Amino acid sequence: MEYKIAVISGDGIGPEITREAEKALAKVGQNYGHRFTFNHVLAGGCAIDEVGQCLPDETLKACRDSDSVLFGAVGGPKWDDLPGEQRPEKAVLGLRESLGLYGNLRPALLFPELEDACPLKPEIIEGGLDIMVVRELTGGIYFGDKGLCETENGPGAYDVEIYTEREVERIARFAFLMAMKRNGKLTSVDKANVLESSRLWRRTVNKVAKDFPEVELSHMYVDNAAMQLIRNPKQFDVIVTSNMFGDILSDEASMIAGSIGLLPSASIGEGTFGLYEPIHGSAPDITGKDMANPIATILSAAMMLRYSLGLSSEADAVEEAVRVFLREGYRTPDIMSNGMKQVGTREAGDIIAESIHR
Ligand code: NAD
Repeated sequence: MEYKIAVISGDGIGPEITREAEKALAKVGQNYGHRFTFNHVLAGGCAIDEVGQCLPDETLKACRDSDSVLFGAVGGPKWDDLPGEQRPEKAVLGLRESLGLYGNLRPALLFPELEDACPLKPEIIEGGLDIMVVRELTGGIYFGDKGLCETENGPGAYDVEIYTEREVERIARFAFLMAMKRNGKLTSVDKANVLESSRLWRRTVNKVAKDFPEVELSHMYVDNAAMQLIRNPKQFDVIVTSNMFGDILSDEASMIAGSIGLLPSASIGEGTFGLYEPIHGSAPDITGKDMANPIATILSAAMMLRYSLGLSSEADAVEEAVRVFLREGYRTPDIMSNGMKQVGTREAGDIIAESIHR
């Protein structure tokens, strides 16, 4: 099969890490008889420098014409003094909005080989961890009515949390399907004891649950979920939650992995289209030093294979190659520890690509 992938390398370490993910995909292509064509397009600071805007129309068009998008990172000190509306990071929100990316998937994955890097106690994380946080991305308080107001106690401000049944149903359905592909457990996180929007969330999730009798659904208040993620993270398989709760819980869950350089993410839209990116930023402090960990981006490419291109065995092969890399003791500087072999970005990418087998 032939697959068209738009690649937005972006700024800072972006080009260094997307290059290694492309290498892994090319190896998958070789081994499995697929053809991946990479269409490199601009967004972020480099786009501001070249064409005067962070998200050129041409880039959006290229994304829409592709099966999927691989994204590196945008931003950096060079553009930090620009006003908010003109900053490179606006490209990320613009892409989500223009491409209708309504759901964000963030696996919090702890490889057993990296248990040392996890801040939780060994007995809590023994054998590794694998949680998937599904966050609603285009609704809720970040998109509700907001403003300043006068109150009887002086100046105030408000942000409205609003969800429609349609929005909740769409993300819930996605999360149930995800749970079915994994261990069949879904935890829906809300604040239904206080918020009306959360009560609608819970009612709607319960309604969708009727179509997925094989999934074990539970509900949890967000304050308890924040605590349980630290106390007993192994109880979770898939977590589904609103935009703001997901923003906070997915960052908390990502700490489990030990380094920001290891965690992939996906933003999904209608059908199979998606945008895949590491959760970290452009890391200006290590740009051009061959120090960036490419694993988060390579695992993002694996998520693309699985969720957008329907190539699960190929995704498994990439994930296994990352495990082999770690098992054989290779480490980039961010996860280096005693007795391991330190390698740079390029060599790490080479070793992982070489370890992809059919
Ligand atoms: P960052 O994630 O870029 O870096 C935080 C720390 O983690 C740094 O010390 C960095 O060296 C390290 N790090 C990040 N990725 C790494 C990797 N792959 N391997 C090894 N170490 C890694 O966050 P920041 O410093 O707050 O932001 C830098 C720039 O990135 C800013 O302009 C910010 O706005 C932007 N940013 C962009 C995105 C995005 O494009 N989606 C996300 C977050 C931040």
